[in-house]
Amino acid sequence: MYDKKTLNSQKLDLRVGVFICRCGGNISDIVDIDKLKSSIDADVVEEFENLCSLNGRKIIRDNIINKELDRVVIASCSPITHEKTFQDYIQPLNPYLMDMANLREQCSWVHGDMDKATDKAITLVNASIEKVKQSQAVDPILCQTPESAAVIGGGISGISAALSLAKQGVKTYLIEKKPSIGGNMVKIGKVFSPVKLAEECGMCLLNPIMNETVWHENIEILTNTKVLSTERRAGNFSILLESNPRYVDEEKCISCGKCIEECPVEVPNRWDDGLSMRKAIYKPFSQSYPDAYTIDMENCEKCGKCMKKCPMGAIYLKGEKEIVPLNVGAVILATGHKTFDPNLRPEYGYNRYADVITQSELGRIMGVNGPTKGKLKMLSKDRVPRRVVMIQCVGSRDEKPDGHKYCSKVCCMVALKNANIIKHKYPDTDVIICYTDMRTPGMYEKYYKHGQENGIRLLRGRPGEVNKKGDSLVVRVEDTLQKKFTEIETDMVVLSTAIEPSQGSEEISKIMNVGITEDMFIKETHPKIKPVTTDVKGAYVCGTAQGPKDITDSIMQAHAAASKVAEIMNDGLEIEPFVAEIDDEKCNLCEDCISICKYKAMSIKDEMIYIDPMSCSGCGKCLTVCKPRAINIHGNIDEKIFATISGMLKGKKEGEKRILVFLDQVGYTAADNIGVNRVDYPESIYIIKVHSVNRVMPKHIIYALKNGADGVFIGEYPGDLMYQEVENKMNQIREEIKDHGMNPERLQFSNVYIPYFRGLANKFKEFDAKIGSMDA
Ligand code: SF4
Ligand code: SF4
Repeated sequence: MYDKKTLNSQKLDLRVGVFICRCGGNISDIVDIDKLKSSIDADVVEEFENLCSLNGRKIIRDNIINKELDRVVIASCSPITHEKTFQDYIQPLNPYLMDMANLREQCSWVHGDMDKATDKAITLVNASIEKVKQSQAVDPILCQTPESAAVIGGGISGISAALSLAKQGVKTYLIEKKPSIGGNMVKIGKVFSPVKLAEECGMCLLNPIMNETVWHENIEILTNTKVLSTERRAGNFSILLESNPRYVDEEKCISCGKCIEECPVEVPNRWDDGLSMRKAIYKPFSQSYPDAYTIDMENCEKCGKCMKKCPMGAIYLKGEKEIVPLNVGAVILATGHKTFDPNLRPEYGYNRYADVITQSELGRIMGVNGPTKGKLKMLSKDRVPRRVVMIQCVGSRDEKPDGHKYCSKVCCMVALKNANIIKHKYPDTDVIICYTDMRTPGMYEKYYKHGQENGIRLLRGRPGEVNKKGDSLVVRVEDTLQKKFTEIETDMVVLSTAIEPSQGSEEISKIMNVGITEDMFIKETHPKIKPVTTDVKGAYVCGTAQGPKDITDSIMQAHAAASKVAEIMNDGLEIEPFVAEIDDEKCNLCEDCISICKYKAMSIKDEMIYIDPMSCSGCGKCLTVCKPRAINIHGNIDEKIFATISGMLKGKKEGEKRILVFLDQVGYTAADNIGVNRVDYPESIYIIKVHSVNRVMPKHIIYALKNGADGVFIGEYPGDLMYQEVENKMNQIREEIKDHGMNPERLQFSNVYIPYFRGLANKFKEFDAKIGSMDA
């Protein structure tokens, strides 16, 4: 269908092989593979259960060699997760002579109707066949990244990741918003040890790791510091940090504590979950780092009494925020978690009754560094409770609108741990855990049994409410095993509240444009095979920022993230070669391109224009100002876009609607996340991945609309340096569309953000409806 004059002089009798993957039913449950196979016009069409397996590799390679294939189409999952794998599998062919038709994330996972999904799959494969015929053999560019990394979040995950990186020779910046590193583990009191069937001091485990981190020459710790913005160009992150003053010079402060004697302000101590008070000048906890006091300026009265008392002259009351720039090769996100607000379940009486507390507060009460120095006491009276009832799944596995459907994974073990500690220290105290299901996987099962032998009682059923009766609290619960309602009188109720994404995770996901899950945790690229990589190249995730997990799993994931960073530091980063190239013979060194490039990718080197491949986005802006036409974007980009459009419109039936959606890597990742989260959108949506949205020219859009596309949707991330440019261009193209006698509303330009994949699905639905109303 496409005008062959627009294509370059490429051999047109290329032999193409199409390899279809059933993906273990992920694709074949929705797409009729037999119909797909028989509808494809290619020199070889093969199907396989799991194409990414080693057997799949053999099938692909054998066919390339025996059937003398020139080009390959892989009809399977997304290039975001599997492109590298299949580029490797098509050897000895050049890696860029392969294209992937995304039948999983963009077809079987977003559509439910088999006939429609199969028709769509046929079209997606046709588009790939057309595109791959225009592909050229090009070599990836290898770039070296700076050997430095930023770890965002100074809890146990961040500390472990930083230490692992530092030991591998990577200069590491550990960035923490709070005045000390340590995170939630500082507050935990004791941790369970199923191997020894005992509980150990959390701080005793954390302290050596913290000390090692503090003293490691490759680690720079930045506390009171948050990330303001990040900008990424292949392998390089330019980060702007905001460093807030401590108002106490950490070099001078000797932690003598004389200042607090004078400070007149008292506020609840957040490090003790508000169970104790602290002064406006304070030290978060005794082993905190930096080992210095800090002033909480929100509460400080600026009376200056502490300044007069300080023997070291360490205190200053005027301080300015500082903006600190950082350039690193990789980032690890370890922004941790927060816990569910128990006030959202008023039926349990938290805040109404002093002795209804959370597991975290119980951890503080029983922690030796806590408000009672480890003695279990009721908050309403100064005595040990004789009866304690724990309520599991408060906010977890909870279908209510403000609850979380997921299991918070650690609360059963936390409850068992705290119950065990109570039973060891106060054997006469009766402890009952009311549970939905007791979940103690793997070795923790031993600890569960140990708890039962220790006298902890278990009752299956989620309590409905907690009330007061005389001096006691009364927990109403249906015992779902005995099938009877019961009321348990108790002195203390402990709520096992859900683990939730932290505010820091939410902030950083927006700043860095990394994907998030439906539950708002930072999303890994693939939960099975890429458990620490994120949607942003060079950014990794670990710990509870990625989802509920215990300390052991957090540390393991932190080490995994650090090893992924070390991989790219050692091996460099392979960059796609679709960047600008200069014909030095034609270039007259006018330097117009240098001044226009938004990405600052061009410079003069040895009296020639030099293009930094790490910075060039292949946007093509420089082409528009180069009078001698000395610049080209490597890789036949224009022709591939024409060919893909043509393939996407092939075989369009009477009355059928096809909307072409152009997205770059960011937008494509957001679209993939729609599929991963199984959110649906209309079958009329056909997604085309481009390197830069700016490469979609007026001629492509007009060509698409003239040849059967009902609408064209261009998505761009507002953080892209070319965003404004593209938006302006779209307005001009609307005029051109009008000149061709078509409705300019058939072109839609839209913002795309990776975290807001649902928003993108909604935009697809809205545009589909709008086009439908135009056709009507
Ligand atoms: S700020 Fe001054 S008074 Fe306060 S702990 Fe540090 S050295 Fe002591
Ligand atoms: S293609 Fe875009 S990013 Fe690359 S050099 Fe040209 S203007 Fe700069």
